[in-house]
Amino acid sequence: MTADKLVYMFEEGDRTMKVLLGGKGANLAEMTNTGLPVPYGFTITTQVCKDYYANGQKHSPLLDEQMMHAVKKLESKTGKKFGDTTNPLLVSVRSGAPASMPGMMDTILNLGMNDAVVATIVESTKNERFAFDSYRRFITMFGNVVMEMRHSAFEEIMDEIKHKNHIKLDTEMTTEMLKEMVEMQKVMYKKETGEDFPQDPIEQLKRARDAVFRSWMTDRAIVYRRLNHISPEWGTAVNVQEMVFGNTGEDSGTGVAFTRNPSTGENKFYGEFLMNAQGEDVVAGIRTPKKVEELGNVLPKVYEQLVDIRAKLEEHYKDMQDFEFTIEHEKLYMLQTRNGKRTAHAAVKIAVDMEQEKLITKEEAVLRVDPSSLDQLLHKQFDLKLLKEAKVLTSGLPASPGAAVGKVVFNAADAKMMAEKGEKVILSRLETSPEDIEGMHSSVGILTARGGMTSHAAVVARGMGKCCVSGCDELTMNEKEKMFTCNGTVVKEGDIISLDGSTGKVYVGAIPVVEPTLSGDFATLMSWADGFRTLKVRTNADTPKDADIARKFGAEGIGLVRTEHMFFEATRIKAVREMILAKDLEGRKKALAKIEPYQKEDFEGIFSAMNGLPVIIRMLDPPLHEFLPNHEQKKEIEELSNELKVTPKEIQETITSLHEFNPMLGFRGCRLAVVYPEIMEMQVRAIFNAAISVSAKGVKALPEIEIPIVGNIKEYSMLADLTHRVAIETGAKGKIHYTVGTMIEVPRAALTADLLAKNAEFMSFGTNDLTQMTCGFSRDDAGKFLVPYVEKGIYSRDPFQSIDQEGVGLLMKHAVTLARGVNPNIDIGICGEHGGDPESVEFCHRIGLSNVSCSPYRVPIARLAAAHAAIKEKQKKK
Ligand code: ADP
Ligand code: MG
Ligand code: MG
Repeated sequence: MTADKLVYMFEEGDRTMKVLLGGKGANLAEMTNTGLPVPYGFTITTQVCKDYYANGQKHSPLLDEQMMHAVKKLESKTGKKFGDTTNPLLVSVRSGAPASMPGMMDTILNLGMNDAVVATIVESTKNERFAFDSYRRFITMFGNVVMEMRHSAFEEIMDEIKHKNHIKLDTEMTTEMLKEMVEMQKVMYKKETGEDFPQDPIEQLKRARDAVFRSWMTDRAIVYRRLNHISPEWGTAVNVQEMVFGNTGEDSGTGVAFTRNPSTGENKFYGEFLMNAQGEDVVAGIRTPKKVEELGNVLPKVYEQLVDIRAKLEEHYKDMQDFEFTIEHEKLYMLQTRNGKRTAHAAVKIAVDMEQEKLITKEEAVLRVDPSSLDQLLHKQFDLKLLKEAKVLTSGLPASPGAAVGKVVFNAADAKMMAEKGEKVILSRLETSPEDIEGMHSSVGILTARGGMTSHAAVVARGMGKCCVSGCDELTMNEKEKMFTCNGTVVKEGDIISLDGSTGKVYVGAIPVVEPTLSGDFATLMSWADGFRTLKVRTNADTPKDADIARKFGAEGIGLVRTEHMFFEATRIKAVREMILAKDLEGRKKALAKIEPYQKEDFEGIFSAMNGLPVIIRMLDPPLHEFLPNHEQKKEIEELSNELKVTPKEIQETITSLHEFNPMLGFRGCRLAVVYPEIMEMQVRAIFNAAISVSAKGVKALPEIEIPIVGNIKEYSMLADLTHRVAIETGAKGKIHYTVGTMIEVPRAALTADLLAKNAEFMSFGTNDLTQMTCGFSRDDAGKFLVPYVEKGIYSRDPFQSIDQEGVGLLMKHAVTLARGVNPNIDIGICGEHGGDPESVEFCHRIGLSNVSCSPYRVPIARLAAAHAAIKEKQKKK
């Protein structure tokens, strides 16, 4: 459908019209209407762009009609005319989409120039150099953007002239040289396009306009949109604006400024300018620009005006602005403004400062900070000044943020050994595997030569809140020789390196680091966020240390303790294996009795750390074969055989018998407890005894026993009964406040959530398994096709990172409705990677969950995301 109005004069728009006019157009209109000095112009809407593509790159006849009408208005406002030989109009033709896509699309300056106009300008300005400089810039931009001629072809012409005249700088070019350049450009233009350089300004305008529309679909624009989740449906607007000239002499100039410092957030004017320059010169780096304050010495009146505009912009937009200005003969013009991009650190400071300056409310301040950006603030950081001076060895993927400095080691055992001696180590591997976990734990950072953002190393490191750079493909890793080489540098075991997990850069030597703190402005903002959110935030923690960190970051309980992680430690794995290899119940019980004291100790530690806060403990979850060596680990099998007095053959047979074709859907979770109740009995006993023993010391333990992989109410009831029986046996009944609940990770459990909710005292969505089983692909195998799936837009994001709201989310919503239907106050939470993903957290709020649980370092992110969700809901209701 085509709207009737396709072209808006700047006076007709405002900043709420971003979707129609693009960000640049809407803000040019807003500034115009606020009375700021903006050169006259008009905007052709994004709708025209959409229709252009819908109709096989053709326009409605209405467009030219309306555009010509706007041109007439522009001519009368400016008192200038296209192609006029006394007062010619020159314009810029600027792209501008609803979302900012810096540098991705095209802009053409000085349009309207032709042979006659250039002569007129020479006469009226008495500045021949300026006239021809403007003309040659226009031919370059038109040739490049409209006719797709190579930019370098134009540069070659310039180089040829410079070379011939023995000069180096653009600014050294004389008028004669610029004239010659224009002639040579026109010759080349004709040679490459087969036509003369177009002299009719209206024809120039139409062709430039369509070139800007075409720039919406260039490869780089398409890639940029995909990476930044910008819809290809939006289209770009085209802005046509009277030119103002910063290149007319030393009383003219151009610049870019921020109303506050975008890197620190400091409330101080921040910007750069160049005298006698046009448009992109400031960013192009041809000359070194000056600090905006220095304009005070050059043109004090103009500077004063700029300072005044800075205040006006903030007063008006109530946010930090990033703006472009140009000075023509001491007269200031505004050419663009938008909300400025900033670091997380700056975002927090600006939000808190602006609330205190009464520019915004606390709600707005909280909404100003993007939850996922907090990642940058929650990890150790390098001293920025010293980082700049350091030499980069190579770069990989910024897999897990943080700053790590340590001695390089090449295997997990060395990492552990050196860490025990008090050394800081960086584990460096071709790639990591589950056996490296302990070594990863002992390290301050992890470096891998292979693997992506969701590789084992990356996922585990993020879970641990540990710095990780993955997929450094320039590294040649030699784990055997304990060294790697990279771009000619050899790094050996014990050498010190520094990793920047936020940029993926690797440095040789030690760069000093500073600690993260949840203090100052950050703490203030978080306390506001807590005042708005209704969703509780818990953490996933398997150790007292993790529990402690999470508490400091504001966790209100533990949403998941994975008990099997405790089984892997060297002292325990033996007893676990003995239990698995036991021939009968007697043998299993004997082995379990050895594990029990360790389990009790673990829980005592966690209860003490969480004193007074609830702790969900999940019963043993993975299939048993994960605890045994595999067929190939002959040495380990040998050792095991000697210790447990079972033959290697018997061990091999057990390994074979436990083999599963699809362990994800195999003998795991509550299925283990149904068949071998003694395992769960041991765990529950350890929990109750731990709770009783810490209570005696004045610690308040609130265990919540959680049964995984339930799909059928009978599984749940059987194991809940077991728990209550052990509560009586241990004397916990009546003494310890405990609850029993279920995970919802099997679709059948979600579909029968009402049956479960009659008995279960709490529920927690295990969205990793729920996603696997609902979508029908396993997390371990999906890597191969999920990336292309996301690229092709089949899933908008990786469903293991962000909840697939349309499918898995629907099932969750349904389960919540069923469960609350029979048990209105039942606690329903979520654990797993999704609990720390802001989009997923907001979704959990919307479907009415009681809490989310995530890794310790994501707790503040989840708190902020939960606040965003609550505030947005409130705003919507209004
Ligand atoms: P981008 O979106 O890539 O920043 P712009 O449309 O803002 O592109 O334009 C590029 C440069 O040209 C900017 O420096 C801008 O200030 C300058 N510019 C654009 N229009 C005009 C104009 N009418 N007069 C003077 N300079 C202009
Ligand atoms: Mg710009
Ligand atoms: Mg699970």
